[in-house]
Amino acid sequence: MNQLSRKHIVILGAGFAGLRLARMLNNHPSYTITLIDKNNYHQFQPLLYQVALANLDASNISFPLRNIFKRSRNISIRATTVTEIDVPNNCVRTDGGDFNYDFLVVATGATTNYFGNVKLEEKVFPMKSTWEALQIRNTLLQHFENAVLTYPTDTENQLSIVIVGGGPTGVELSGAFAEMKRDSLPDEYPELDFSKMKIYLLEGSGKLLGNMRSRSSVMARKYLTQMGVTVLTNTFVKQYDGLKVIFNDGSHLESAFVIWVAGVLGNTPPGIPESLLTKTKQLKTDIYNRVVSVDNMFALGDVAFVETTQHPKGLPQLASVAVDQAKNMANNFKRLAKEQTILPYVYVNKGSMATIGRNKAVVDLVRPAISFGGFIAWFIWMTLHLFLLIGFKNRLIVFINWVYKYFTHRQSFSLLFNPPVKKQKSDSRPM
Ligand SMILES: Cc1cc2nc3c(=O)[nH]c(=O)nc-3n(C[C@H](O)[C@H](O)[C@H](O)COP(=O)(O)OP(=O)(O)OC[C@H]3O[C@@H](n4cnc5c(N)ncnc54)[C@H](O)[C@@H]3O)c2cc1C
Repeated sequence: MNQLSRKHIVILGAGFAGLRLARMLNNHPSYTITLIDKNNYHQFQPLLYQVALANLDASNISFPLRNIFKRSRNISIRATTVTEIDVPNNCVRTDGGDFNYDFLVVATGATTNYFGNVKLEEKVFPMKSTWEALQIRNTLLQHFENAVLTYPTDTENQLSIVIVGGGPTGVELSGAFAEMKRDSLPDEYPELDFSKMKIYLLEGSGKLLGNMRSRSSVMARKYLTQMGVTVLTNTFVKQYDGLKVIFNDGSHLESAFVIWVAGVLGNTPPGIPESLLTKTKQLKTDIYNRVVSVDNMFALGDVAFVETTQHPKGLPQLASVAVDQAKNMANNFKRLAKEQTILPYVYVNKGSMATIGRNKAVVDLVRPAISFGGFIAWFIWMTLHLFLLIGFKNRLIVFINWVYKYFTHRQSFSLLFNPPVKKQKSDSRPM
């Protein structure tokens, strides 16, 4: 097939879905593919909390896209931000130029939902990307250094951490903070009294891990409470001004550091007509992941809203769903090339899990329908996440880091790299 008769697929986003689709269509004779991402690497979000807590380096959970496709004959990588999708003209506009397409696949994931609270958004820390995880790490370390300088004034405020959102990310983060407080901080900062460090996990609904069974939710809460985390459910945060977290009932608590993992919105690029979006900014798609009423536009993963009778609120926003949808779509593109009909994506619930800390995790299995926690659950979580990482080198380094941490109880990357203050050239010149 010559270059001209090949169809051009533009894939937006090299996350779990976009990357898997591109890999499965690598060197396919019927398609040329442009894979566009604002980063030149793939990031493994499930381990972001370990970057934020200085247990892993950012490079351990990131993989350069050009390396993955270095031998590809049909895939081009473009590291640029999508600024507009021009649906009528089949064109994607980016900071780095325009790309016309025959087929468009939107796989731009999810972004943090602040529920329209701009004041709060300015002050809290989200954690959806490697960059945001690094910001959390730097701020955290800076707060500890500041607390040493000002000790004993303002210590509780500088050290205390509030995590808003009791889903898997909030549970993982608060458990990891509790371990950090117990294991490594007293050695690294002997000047400070860590009994003043409070860790709060706040959740608006009545239970943690809302998507898991009650048994797992109760177990997770018990583990966290034992580890010294104050868990508050049915607690709605109304406002945060950088010092005080104010609740709906008017009460408040004080902390200089609030992490917001309380909600997500579809990360849809600008230009898509509102009629194609849900209230949560996801793209309405059919069971083939085709965007409703646009035949050559598809959506995968967190940005896609697929409504079925069994799942009226859409499918769970999980890496496994993103990957399975991408596999189905790759097969459909291969079928289209052979002029065969395309097949629907059928969601299979593979269960869910969350880790809380050393030897502590919770797992909900589907078949058999059981829930369990403890060491076995923790071991399954660690093994699964290790194998989901891309690249043998990353897996090996992460494994070594985990073993090191398990036996030494130390954070590996508690380095604070602040940007240097540039000396103005004019400063040194004689007047
Ligand atoms: C902290 C955290 C922990 C998680 N833990 C788990 C877990 O343990 N298990 C699990 O199954 N799921 C977990 N998830 C959810 C899982 O990561 C997502 O479901 C999955 O990443 C969705 O894949 P995706 O391909 O749709 O989007 P993503 O993987 O988010 O990829 C989206 C890509 O699009 C790019 N992009 C976005 N906007 C633009 C733009 N305008 N221009 C160019 N590029 C753009 C981004 O850079 C990114 O590479 C976690 C998520 C987070 C945030």
